[in-house]
Amino acid sequence: MTFNDLKLKPEILKALSKENYTAPTPIQEQAIPVVLAGRDLFGCAQTGTGKTAAFSLPILQLLSEQSSHGSRNRRIRSLILTPTRELALQISDNIQAYGHFTDLRCAAIVGGVSQKVQEKSLEHGTDILIATPGRLIDLLNQKLVDLRHVQILVLDEADRMLDMGFIHDVKKIIATLPAKKQTLFFSATMPPEISKLVKTLLVDPVKVEV
Ligand code: AMP
Repeated sequence: MTFNDLKLKPEILKALSKENYTAPTPIQEQAIPVVLAGRDLFGCAQTGTGKTAAFSLPILQLLSEQSSHGSRNRRIRSLILTPTRELALQISDNIQAYGHFTDLRCAAIVGGVSQKVQEKSLEHGTDILIATPGRLIDLLNQKLVDLRHVQILVLDEADRMLDMGFIHDVKKIIATLPAKKQTLFFSATMPPEISKLVKTLLVDPVKVEV
């Protein structure tokens, strides 16, 4: 299978060839059509399988297909929650690369760095926000971030977020999102708490395991 067979747009295909990606990985082959079809997804996959592109590529495609709101009126239409600062910055770098030929913007909100710089990128407007739960809660409490237009939510490494004690923050963040949205849930392991979360957060999900 090729990325072309996955019906990705020329702007995205161009970025993938620039990255020297020749063929989709198994998680990408399985997940991309599900996400493009608008379905909720439960992905059982570890880091290293290509899961970042598995959710990022279809998100870039879905958002770029919608009419643009103009650069002065960007709204956060996709939120990606991930447990660590390193993962958030890695996802952000990947999305910048994959979305290079689209007009979409992404920003990362992580702890341990100046909040001022992150406030600036939010003021500037972004289509995709990647965040660690703690810093996002801080910004939400200060009313510096508006999540009322989120259409696609990604929970990356959900089991690690649970282990790191972020579950309360994650639930609080999800409570501020529109009820009607597409949710993509990734976890490397399936403890009972994760099964419970999947049941409450996902609607008729497609399960993809690699
Ligand atoms: P991830 O599991 O998302 O952390 O990805 C692991 C690594 O594989 C990253 O360095 C990606 O840039 C790379 N990668 C992801 N998908 C592909 C692909 N289809 N072809 C080649 N490399 C890829």
